[in-house]
Amino acid sequence: MSEKTTTSKTGFTAYIEVLGHYIEESLAKGEQLGLILVDLDNLRRVNTTMGYEAGRQMLVEAAQRLEKICRPRDRIIQYSDQGFALLLAGMHNEGHSELAANKIWRMFEEHVEIVGHRIVIEVSIGIALCPAHGKDASVLMQAAEAAQCVATATSQWCLYTPSVTAEATGLVGIEAELDTALAEGQLEMHYQPKLCLPDCKPNGVEALMRWFHPDRGPIRPDIFIGMAERIGKIEDLTWFALNTSLRQLREWPLKGNPFNVAINVTPQIVQKEEFSQLVSNALQVWDVEPAQLTIEVTETALMTKPEESFRTLNALRELGVRISIDDFGTGYSSLAYFKNIPATELKIDRSFVFKMLDNAGDRQIVQTVIDLAQGFGLKVVAEGIENSETEAALIAMGCDTAQGFYYSKPLSHHDICGWLAQRLSSCEAIAPA
Ligand code: C2E
Ligand code: MG
Ligand code: MG
Repeated sequence: MSEKTTTSKTGFTAYIEVLGHYIEESLAKGEQLGLILVDLDNLRRVNTTMGYEAGRQMLVEAAQRLEKICRPRDRIIQYSDQGFALLLAGMHNEGHSELAANKIWRMFEEHVEIVGHRIVIEVSIGIALCPAHGKDASVLMQAAEAAQCVATATSQWCLYTPSVTAEATGLVGIEAELDTALAEGQLEMHYQPKLCLPDCKPNGVEALMRWFHPDRGPIRPDIFIGMAERIGKIEDLTWFALNTSLRQLREWPLKGNPFNVAINVTPQIVQKEEFSQLVSNALQVWDVEPAQLTIEVTETALMTKPEESFRTLNALRELGVRISIDDFGTGYSSLAYFKNIPATELKIDRSFVFKMLDNAGDRQIVQTVIDLAQGFGLKVVAEGIENSETEAALIAMGCDTAQGFYYSKPLSHHDICGWLAQRLSSCEAIAPA
């Protein structure tokens, strides 16, 4: 780390002062100043699961990466526990700050080795420009923070525009509306097929929640699931997902084929002791075999409170419910933990599958997860398959199950009925006598 980065936490006031000087200078010279905020979204998770030394190393790595894009007059300041501000002096136009944001985004896609774990530093990036979006430090900061708020929700970098404030405000507003969404039938379960490889016969679906807001249109689950966790609504949403999926599963045209529905659960839910009993009750109410249900839990969720999570998952396994470790490869589980995970399936994160044809590192990770799964007698699912070349590569690598837009996007209950009827009949037609 060079003298360009103020590494110790300077305090917000000191930071605002420096920003103020940069603004004054650029206004005096008639130049544009770019303010880019970069927050490390998974820093707290890394501190909790891997320890503070790991968190410290992550901050150092982030600062070093950011320094790479800095020119002599630029400055990096760590303005909060998990946030860096880049002050980019003498920007020619908006496009330059967007180029810088893009560069940062790409740099943070690369994994880093921290205390023996390979992780991705997850960032959200908000950009604002002086004088266009503010001529004093607090206004400019507010604009960059509003952009960052939208960036966090959409998992992209975001340049401030006046509509960003409205969107950021809107995102705050919808938290309260989640309360009525369930009561007023705005939530639906959609289903994305999972297919057996190599014959591509459907053997299950993943249930994915959708919120159709009457004014705002569809809202993505990665926005509202996090909100539901924060405001204590995640249990209601999970019971809705579980009960709707089990009820609708019984209505699908399965023609006696073995079939499974997978629902996603968050760390808060999987840590609850009573969760396995509630699942057991729901299976009885809807008269569904335990083996027809999969609970998907992310690798990271398991590591938050491993003892409690493992206890619940073991109880579910005893019931006969299947357990899938979602987004596998992005978390921090060590092999020591892994050997005790009561899982039936590993789901390779789609970020590796997307790039596996072009990137030898990602291909190697996919192969390693497949080998690991096979070594432990687990099934392995690849999600995010978008073309036939990726499918062919995964078949050659020994992957069992496929999921992705190449086969189908998540479909409504009505549409999955049609899709399954058609797909299962065509599989029957080509099956050897
Ligand atoms: P996930 O569990 O990893 O779900 C897979 C996501 O990958 C889905 O996004 C799906 O639409 C997307 N996907 C699948 N195949 C492809 C592909 O080929 N290309 C691309 N670009 N994307 C693909 P979705 O539906 O937006 O869900 C995002 C996340 O939200 C899920 O990630 C899951 O973590 C969470 N989620 C969704 N529904 C629920 C729910 O009912 N409960 C909980 N707790 N979380 C949910
Ligand atoms: Mg999932
Ligand atoms: Mg996933």
